[in-house]
Amino acid sequence: MRTVEEALETILAQARTLPSVRVPLLEALGRVLNEDVTADISVPPFDNTAVDGYAVRAADTAGAAPESPVLLFVTVDVPAGVVAREAVTAGTAARIMTGAPMPPGADAVIMVEDTRPAQDGRVMILEAAQPGQHVRRAGEDVSCGTVVLTQGTFVRAAEIAMLATMGRATVSVVRPARVAVVSTGDEVVDIGEGVAPPPGKIRNSNLYALAALVREAGAVVHSLTHIPDEPVSTEATLRACADPATGADVIVTAGGVSVGDRDFVKPALESLGRLELWRVAMKPGKPLAFGGIGETLFFGLPGNPVSAMVTFELFVRPALWKLMGRAESDLARRQVPAVLLESLEHTPGRREYVRAVTTLRDGRFETRPTGAQGSGLLHSMTRANSLLIVPQESRGVAAGETVAVLLLE
Ligand code: AMP
Ligand code: MG
Repeated sequence: MRTVEEALETILAQARTLPSVRVPLLEALGRVLNEDVTADISVPPFDNTAVDGYAVRAADTAGAAPESPVLLFVTVDVPAGVVAREAVTAGTAARIMTGAPMPPGADAVIMVEDTRPAQDGRVMILEAAQPGQHVRRAGEDVSCGTVVLTQGTFVRAAEIAMLATMGRATVSVVRPARVAVVSTGDEVVDIGEGVAPPPGKIRNSNLYALAALVREAGAVVHSLTHIPDEPVSTEATLRACADPATGADVIVTAGGVSVGDRDFVKPALESLGRLELWRVAMKPGKPLAFGGIGETLFFGLPGNPVSAMVTFELFVRPALWKLMGRAESDLARRQVPAVLLESLEHTPGRREYVRAVTTLRDGRFETRPTGAQGSGLLHSMTRANSLLIVPQESRGVAAGETVAVLLLE
């Protein structure tokens, strides 16, 4: 059995960045840039004022104070968006609004709060200005021709703002991964509002849980399929999902991958493609299969709802992020040390991921399991915001000891 790290290494080695597409600016949010972006203009494009007030020659305001104001003639009014042609000359000032270009001759701005209106179109200056005061210099943020964003950058709202500033109406990004989600099991029936499953059957939660995880990861659901425990439709479904023309980049199945005599997923994978790894020393989620069919990556997750979600988090999400261009250093969730609030028992042999609530208190993280940890117990998952890690060979952890926690949010 492989460790989680060994399994992840095998998986990531198979995940290569997907091709890029050119998309309208807003569609780039949550994707990875596949181009360097060069500034086509300087930002700000011209010297302008950071405040509403009066553009002056700083030298004219020397010695100004509330008890010894300086009087200047207001010769021009400069709203934002307008270029003043008239210069500010000795003894004059221009009324100016935030963002408006500095008029020629002026080298500082007095905030309106440091002035008083005076008679005959004059203004009383109550403060001496330093040259450059409240002036935003052309190019102080970005100078024309420099690279402002590099290929491989994950695009958040801040990057969208920079791209818009550079006039980029379209941008080249790595395309989202298309993921085929497949659930299995003769006992599993589709959901219907108010329709209780027939005797012996259960509702299909995995199909929806995995589709939601795919979307949360920023990928796209290629298809949702449920198959019975039967070899022919298992193989046919996997073949269709891996079709080079119409198939998915990734197939994720849940269930049917254990050692039961009605587990047909692994044999189907072996007959259509390649099995690269099977079984990982972790709990929940030991029966995990990974491989490929042609260019399509394949994940066979366990059927227990919690096992399926935890193994998706640990293996599928990082692979999807790598496919979508995220840097290798950017695939892991944040892992923090936290003080355990309740003792935990553990049988050595497999690393355990315990659903937990982790909170920051007085500058340190504290963590508490969300209750019974059976791998079918979804409630413990809905309450959790993190996975607390119990080392493989641990014989239990006492309250007050520090453990590592993966933050899921
Ligand atoms: P398996 O891995 O197929 O042996 O399934 C393990 C457990 O997960 C069994 O109790 C199944 O009934 C349950 N299970 C499998 N698939 C689903 C599903 N799609 N939704 C909810 N529970 C499932
Ligand atoms: Mg099954």
